[in-house]
Amino acid sequence: MIETKPKTGYVKGMQILTTSNDSVGAGGDVGPQTWQQQLKTAIRTVPDLLRQLKLTVNPALDAKVGAKAEAAFPVFAPLPYVRRMVPGDPADPLLRQVLPIDAEDSSPAGFSADPLGENAATVRPGLLQKYHGRMLVVATGACAIHCRYCFRRHFPYGEGPAGAALHKQLADALANDDSLDEVILSGGDPLTLVDDAFSALVDTIEQAAHIKRLRIHTRLPIVIPQRVTDQLVERLSFSRLQKVIVVHTNHANEIDEAVIDSLQRLNTPGTQLLNQSVLLRGVNDSSDALVDLSQRLLDGEVLPYYLHQLDPVIGAAHFEVSIERGKQLIQEIRARLPGFAVPRYVQEIAGRPNKTVLA
Ligand SMILES: *Cc1c(COP(=O)(O)O)cnc(C)c1O
Ligand code: SF4
Repeated sequence: MIETKPKTGYVKGMQILTTSNDSVGAGGDVGPQTWQQQLKTAIRTVPDLLRQLKLTVNPALDAKVGAKAEAAFPVFAPLPYVRRMVPGDPADPLLRQVLPIDAEDSSPAGFSADPLGENAATVRPGLLQKYHGRMLVVATGACAIHCRYCFRRHFPYGEGPAGAALHKQLADALANDDSLDEVILSGGDPLTLVDDAFSALVDTIEQAAHIKRLRIHTRLPIVIPQRVTDQLVERLSFSRLQKVIVVHTNHANEIDEAVIDSLQRLNTPGTQLLNQSVLLRGVNDSSDALVDLSQRLLDGEVLPYYLHQLDPVIGAAHFEVSIERGKQLIQEIRARLPGFAVPRYVQEIAGRPNKTVLA
């Protein structure tokens, strides 16, 4: 998430934190940290990130580019995630997802700020519709982690509505379109909203009688497993809607025991857990990495859903894996996994009525 321009999503995120920290109360040294505290203490600079990993310098980032990359898309990585990285390894697959490097400064032909034509798909402020039957809600611009390859890193979140204004847009859009049967809460990450705000969004969706499914696109249960609070689980399990929770994981090392536990808590009756990944050079572009990821997802009762071809967003070109290589990897993992553990390898091509299946 997060745009290059006014960093409004980021600021919004901070506002959410301020509010929640007030309710959490000070003196939080007792017991395990809440998810809001985990966000508050997240790593926000390159030197802090390197220090956590006992790395002295980032050889792939000079000071000039570093300042530019930080201003464009600041480092943001909560400690529960950082602690899953291997200390001393500059090639760690989790580190690579969050560490700015010089290569972000290059923007080859074909890479743009809005590669998916999302500005054109905005049907109302805060609402995107590209595909029949499902409406995507940009519930917030904030995320719990800043992924360097993110296709939404330049999305103008600051322009979107929040709170009551978003509820009104959503309620009107749902009331006026009987062809919708699914609402996708996305962002940003919709679970950066505090439980009451999230619950209120679910209320608005439930009020539209023709909506059957609630889909949630979130990386939070992976990044900060404590985000799966009792209140969240209760709200979801009381809902009349079918739940499809699509988490986002790119490497098996992202899933530790605390993550497995959070996934199990989310997995109440009437819920389908899925995962989406992005095929990323240096992170998961080997059949071993993809097989391990699928196996680990199955440990958490999560089905691999999509493996996305990288969207050509400025700053992410160094993560690109060729489609030819991607297809070859799918062939290789198909020979090693049950069919249900092989994700669909897809590419988003602006203007098409569905994501394009490559393999
Ligand atoms: C990817 C996407 C969806 C979901 O597509 P599925 O193929 O159903 O997973 C819906 N809306 C938008 C705007 C999307 O980008
Ligand atoms: S969590 Fe998702 S939306 Fe947020 S930065 Fe990462 S990939 Fe982008």
